[in-house]
Amino acid sequence: MIPARTQEQIRHQVQNLGFLLFPGICLLCQRRSKRKLDLCLACEATLPRLETGCLRCALPLLHTGVCGYCQLQAPSFTSVFTPYLYQFPTDRMIHSFKYGGKFKYGRVLATLLAEQLNNTERLNNCAPPPDVLLPVPLHWRRQIKRGFNQAELIARALSRQLDIPINTRLISRTRYTITQEGLSRQKRQSNLRQAFTASLDVKGLSIAVIDDVVTTGSTAEAVARCLVRAGAQQVQIWALARTPLEK
Ligand SMILES: [Zn+2]
Ligand SMILES: [Zn+2]
Repeated sequence: MIPARTQEQIRHQVQNLGFLLFPGICLLCQRRSKRKLDLCLACEATLPRLETGCLRCALPLLHTGVCGYCQLQAPSFTSVFTPYLYQFPTDRMIHSFKYGGKFKYGRVLATLLAEQLNNTERLNNCAPPPDVLLPVPLHWRRQIKRGFNQAELIARALSRQLDIPINTRLISRTRYTITQEGLSRQKRQSNLRQAFTASLDVKGLSIAVIDDVVTTGSTAEAVARCLVRAGAQQVQIWALARTPLEK
């Protein structure tokens, strides 16, 4: 039998070794995460997951199926993949990333999104991966003000981890629109009318559009419609989180 003190020493040594190999500090509890990711397993388990949602737009539903909005008018994208609900603490993490410029939060969530995309593909034996990742563009005026495009940072992290190329030039935001936050579904749709212009290079491509949060799906729909009209073969949406209720 190993004496308790030796056991304790061994435990410390293993922990120290773990820290040297994986020097992550958890962004939520500030303890060593004991893995490469800056989020420990216990805190990861507290992130609110999107368990059942609309098969097309991922709107959270009690049972898997197609939501009323998508039944009324089928969206231009084939599906939305998002692992989390936009609720505490995921909402705070995304807010710090997007408005506070704390890239660590975005990197952690993008890594988890990549892991789950990999798992889903393995489990469901899904269609082949998309040809290209396309971050939802910001208008240049907003990008200059914010200093970065959060969707592009997420897409770059996914591109590295999933080995799928990223192309930021396939679509541009040609019209400056007021911020979508706080607008109703209808106002969001009219706010985005003709906001995007796609390049002719999208013809025949299978595209994954990357965004931080899907709220009503209006931005996703506006981008997907523009890409499909320009000849994209298929458009899917990948995002960090989905808002639980319609505003
Ligand atoms: Zn933690
Ligand atoms: Zn739906």
